[in-house]
Amino acid sequence: MNGYRRVDAATSARMKRVGQRDTAPELRARALVRGMGLRYRTTNRDLPGVPDLANRRARWAVFVHGCYWHSHAGCAKATVPTRNRALWVEKFARTVVRDRAALRALKKLGYLTVVVWECDLARSGARAARKLARLGTL
Ligand SMILES: [Zn+2]
Repeated sequence: MNGYRRVDAATSARMKRVGQRDTAPELRARALVRGMGLRYRTTNRDLPGVPDLANRRARWAVFVHGCYWHSHAGCAKATVPTRNRALWVEKFARTVVRDRAALRALKKLGYLTVVVWECDLARSGARAARKLARLGTL
């Protein structure tokens, strides 16, 4: 992991936020789901990929992904640090593979999955609301 030691300030700030619970995007996603009258749990360590929100009985799971760490394709926030670039590219690629595997595993278990990106929640959050509306059809 030595290659990750020297990072620029922006990267270092992002790293500090990793693994934090109850981030602003997560809270916004929860509010949207609650607003639909749906119940969920936020502790889902027993489910593949540890979804941010899930309802086992209704069999749905929601991931709230940060555009940067989860390499949102085509998103302006999905940049790669210039220092140690190759290492970061590899790290981000592993995350994308892991995310896909989690979605596949959940689908195998019969779960409807929704991925809400950080940028989907920006401004009115309309894009996130549209995605989450699928949960209401279960
Ligand atoms: Zn994005």
